[in-house]
Amino acid sequence: MKTIDTINFSGKRALVRVDFNVPLDKKTLEITDDARIRATVPTIKKILAEGGSCILMSHLGRPLKKLKEDGTIDVEKHTLRNTLAKVKELLNVPVKFASDCIGDEAAAMAKELKSGEVLLLENLRFYKEEEKGDESFAAKLAKYGDVYVNDAFGTAHRAHASTAIIAKFFPEAKCFGYVMAKEIANAEKVIHQAARPFTAITGGAKVSDKLLILENLIDKVDNLIIGGGMAYTFLKAMGYEIGSSLCEEDRLELCLELMKKAESKGVKLLLPEDSVVADAFSNEATVKVCDNKLIEKGWMGLDIGPKAAAHFAAVIKASKTILWNGPMGVFEMSNFENGTKTAAIAVAEATKGGAFSLIGGGDSAAAVAQFGLEDQVSYVSTGGGALLEYFEGKTLPGIEAINA
Ligand code: AMP
Repeated sequence: MKTIDTINFSGKRALVRVDFNVPLDKKTLEITDDARIRATVPTIKKILAEGGSCILMSHLGRPLKKLKEDGTIDVEKHTLRNTLAKVKELLNVPVKFASDCIGDEAAAMAKELKSGEVLLLENLRFYKEEEKGDESFAAKLAKYGDVYVNDAFGTAHRAHASTAIIAKFFPEAKCFGYVMAKEIANAEKVIHQAARPFTAITGGAKVSDKLLILENLIDKVDNLIIGGGMAYTFLKAMGYEIGSSLCEEDRLELCLELMKKAESKGVKLLLPEDSVVADAFSNEATVKVCDNKLIEKGWMGLDIGPKAAAHFAAVIKASKTILWNGPMGVFEMSNFENGTKTAAIAVAEATKGGAFSLIGGGDSAAAVAQFGLEDQVSYVSTGGGALLEYFEGKTLPGIEAINA
């Protein structure tokens, strides 16, 4: 792997694609979770400590998809200035800011950058060329640096100008930062060197989003736990009554095929035997526990039930490798968090007993953080979609571009 450790940055300007796409409070625009910025600090510090300088580039949100009513970019919400104070605080060095990621100002600031200095560029996605993977846009960015470092795992599955296309301008001077290197190493470990038993926990709302990963995992795991909203499509496919629980009618056949495939491979596919059901999608709704063979009309399953939670927890605790993607229920509402919490505690206990646990980003990461367990699992991925695609067996453009 071409990691940052293979390059000496003394006197070099490193153009670092970071993932500062952090969640912001809607009103105050303050960062509500700085994990992604924090994660990349070691990469930046290593470059500075060797006498290099850093030009940091990132996106923040989807400014061109969320325009203001008058059709213009909502700069206030999407400016990377919103991250500047936090970046300074975490790096403990002054950080300059270029108010346009391309143009004369940014070029001059990059050129004048001295050893040990940091420059943060404005949101790359203010330009449509970024997501289009435009080569001339990438060429303009490429001029700023001597070395290209990709440390943005969260966008590694996108062939954007700054995440993939740009690498061709640095044929001999490109590498992965520490975040990318760690993400790749951990995913590879789980895919190729999983200690057994290997259990994948999948959940969340939609089967359709997870079909490819489920298919791929069946070839690798010993146990495949399916919880959350997506479990009800499987239960319906088995002929159960699921009331008004989530269901994707057009995926029933596929669910049956997956179950057959699991059986033929000797993989235990675990579905919840009971649910916490509610008469509305609300934390104020009336709730009860019921057997999954018969969820009455007008009731919807919003969490796995206590029997399923105990069963899943026992399987998780007996595992040596755990991959988790997707919550067991609507964990954002306190009445439906128990299944996800029980699973998270079981993952933490298994980890304590020597298992390796990899938590997919997005909702699974948010759930583990909600229960204060992020330090009790082996690794929380910084990229939800990217990690999913990795496990689907796809080649990620951001990784391929460095390896090429
Ligand atoms: P996904 O993005 O597909 O991983 O879905 C995550 C979302 O699924 C979370 O916001 C959960 O609230 C939601 N979810 C989990 N279980 C259920 C359920 N039984 N019914 C409806 N939504 C659910």
